[in-house]
Amino acid sequence: MGRKFFVGGNWKCNGTIEEVKKIVTTLNEAEVPSEDVVEVVVSPPYVFLSMVKSLLRNDFSIAAQNCWVRKGGAFTGEVSAEMLVNLGIPWVILGHSERRLLLNESNEIVGDKTAYALSQGLNVIACVGETFEQRESGSTLAVVAAQTKAIAERLSIWSNIVLAYEPVWAIGTGKVATPSQAQDVHSELRKWLHDNIGAEVAASTRIIYGGSVNGANCKELAAQPDVDGFLVGGASLKPVKVPAIIDYP
Ligand code: PGA
Repeated sequence: MGRKFFVGGNWKCNGTIEEVKKIVTTLNEAEVPSEDVVEVVVSPPYVFLSMVKSLLRNDFSIAAQNCWVRKGGAFTGEVSAEMLVNLGIPWVILGHSERRLLLNESNEIVGDKTAYALSQGLNVIACVGETFEQRESGSTLAVVAAQTKAIAERLSIWSNIVLAYEPVWAIGTGKVATPSQAQDVHSELRKWLHDNIGAEVAASTRIIYGGSVNGANCKELAAQPDVDGFLVGGASLKPVKVPAIIDYP
C-alpha cells in the first residue's frame, strides 16, 4: 500500500501575528506537488490556530501542538480534543520530546492522550525518540519500542496516526541523523508494528523523521525506503526553505 509523503511544520512556541502571517503568505504562494502526492500540515501555537485556519490555503492542513488527556472540564490552562474538533483543526502533535522531557509527559500519558484524541476524531502525529545518552548506551530501539508500545496498547485503529521518529539529540541541534541512522530506526519501528500489530498496519503507517531537517539534507533522508516524510521545526519557520522539503517525490 502506498504511503503518501507527509510534511509537518512544527512552529513550537514561536511567532508573532505578523511573523505567522508572513509564513502563511509564503506557504500560500509556494508551488508544491499536488495534495495527492504530499500531505502538508502546519502546527502553529494555539493562539494562532484560528488565524492560520482562516488564512492558509485549503490543500494544507493544521495541527495543534498538544491537547488534554481526556474530556475537558476543570483543567485550567488546558485545551481539549473536543475544542480542536469544534474549531475544525484536524491534527494534533502528541508526545513531542520537549513535552516528554520538560513537562514530564510519561509514555502512559502520551498513550492516553493519543487514544483520547483519536476517539474524538482527531488525527495524531505521535512522537518517539531517544536521548543522546540512550543512543550511546545502545538502548535506542528499546526506548522507541516502549514509547510505541504505550501508544499501541491503547489503540485499535491505526489509520489516523502518523509516527514521528525524532531523536532528541537531533532536535534543534543541527546534528541531523544520517540517512542510515534514520532508516535503521524507521525499519525497526515498522518491524515492531509488523510483529506486534500486523502486516497491514506496518505497511500503511507513515513513519516520519524529525530533527534538524532542512532544505539541504531532506532529499537524502527522503530517499530512504522507510522515511515517509518529516516533522520540521526550525526550518519550517523560515518559509523560503519549506518548499524544498515539501517537494516530493
Ligand atoms: P528541528 O525540530 O527541526 O528544529 O530540529 C524538529 C521538531 O522538534 O519537531
